[in-house]
Amino acid sequence: MAYIEPAPIKDRENPLESMMERFNIAAEKLGLSDEVYNVLKNPAKQVIVSLPITMDNGKIQVFEGIRVIHSNILGPAKGGIRFAPDVHLDEVRALAAWMTWKCAVVDIPYGGAKGGVRCNPREMSKGEIERLVRAYTMAMIDVFGPDKDIPAPDMGTGPREMAWLMDEFSKAHGMTIPAVVTGKPLVLGGSLGRTEATGRGVMVSALAAMQKLKINPFTATCAVQGFGNVGSWAARLLEERGLKIVAISDHTGAFYNEKGINIVEAIAYRDSNNGTLEGFAGGERLENAADLLTLKVDVLVPAAVEDVITTANADQIKAKLIVEGANGPTSAKADAILNEKGIMAVPDILANAGGVTVSYFEWVQNRLGYKWTADRVNRRSDRIMKDAFDNVYQASIKYDVPMRIAAYIVAIDKVAQTYTYRGGY
Ligand code: NAD
Repeated sequence: MAYIEPAPIKDRENPLESMMERFNIAAEKLGLSDEVYNVLKNPAKQVIVSLPITMDNGKIQVFEGIRVIHSNILGPAKGGIRFAPDVHLDEVRALAAWMTWKCAVVDIPYGGAKGGVRCNPREMSKGEIERLVRAYTMAMIDVFGPDKDIPAPDMGTGPREMAWLMDEFSKAHGMTIPAVVTGKPLVLGGSLGRTEATGRGVMVSALAAMQKLKINPFTATCAVQGFGNVGSWAARLLEERGLKIVAISDHTGAFYNEKGINIVEAIAYRDSNNGTLEGFAGGERLENAADLLTLKVDVLVPAAVEDVITTANADQIKAKLIVEGANGPTSAKADAILNEKGIMAVPDILANAGGVTVSYFEWVQNRLGYKWTADRVNRRSDRIMKDAFDNVYQASIKYDVPMRIAAYIVAIDKVAQTYTYRGGY
């Protein structure tokens, strides 16, 4: 029998600690009482299970599965399931809190959760992964539920895993319950518009911010870091709205074209090239890919990985506006430098919340037993994103704080007020 040792917590400028730093600043600005602060800081429920799985070689391997519900004050908890070798309770806990703030900032009736299984899906067969998903679902049968806790994909999981989860949960209840999970394949009750939802929300928040900053989209330039789901959709939709995308990048390199990169062509190239931009000829390759972040552009969209704008490069950033497609791309220490330079940053919990918004629509459609058109999904998510932006912008004026702290203020205030009305023991 094999057992995977717990992974050590990484020692770096941790984006999750950065999140807590901002939470603390916002709580203080808001004048949150110590009592409510403690309620919001601590997760509501943490479940750890052992999942013995018979591997293809006939041996039994035990995996650790985690689910943390940070808050169910606003409604059922919502959050993805991560399959990765370094899944750790502390990280899952912080990611669950992050979901609470993200749902609250866009005003959807969900609390926050996150789950994970410590495993390496790249080294597992399809059958092994399926058994693991089904075992995890059964172990969490009393945790999950359309009115309790609604999982979704995260790193290492996707529509395929969500289909297995939905099937296992449904079998255990003797009926089909699609609303227990979002991010399902379309034929199983997934929502139209989900694929582009996060990039679309980035576009909506970028345009709203540009209006406030009086940047004309038809003369504006933009650089996008990361060319996966979020980055490529954001780039494409911003290009459609008139912006000139002068630089794009992925993990293989960054490409610059002062006349503007044709994003539709870049996407077609990526799709025909194993999913990467390597060898892309629509722009000149930057020697140092990280230089994309410090280009002289109006709008910068980090949409790749966490912790890319730090004290090491924040003072060289020339963009007037940063719109965070990725989660945690800016460290808390870099915030102060950006603020000093007068750069507006639309924070992750607002800018990339288009994804969870359309996940919410998936759940709504499943419960209605009805399918919306892509047009209806887009119109409604655009409205939610625009309203959320305006709310946060108003809060930033009222409390005289940057957009990031304002977003936390809006979120914390909503959850704190709801908690106070609902009351406790
Ligand atoms: P993805 O895997 O589809 O794409 C990631 C992209 O980033 C790829 O193009 C990859 O090559 C590139 N990349 C990786 N390392 C890089 C580096 N060092 N420099 C430049 N590019 C690099 O992932 P995604 O779904 O687009 O997610 C991107 C970010 O957005 C993540 O932080 C994710 O947590 C966040 N996010 C995603 C969603 C969603 O709906 N997909 C929702 C909210 C937040």
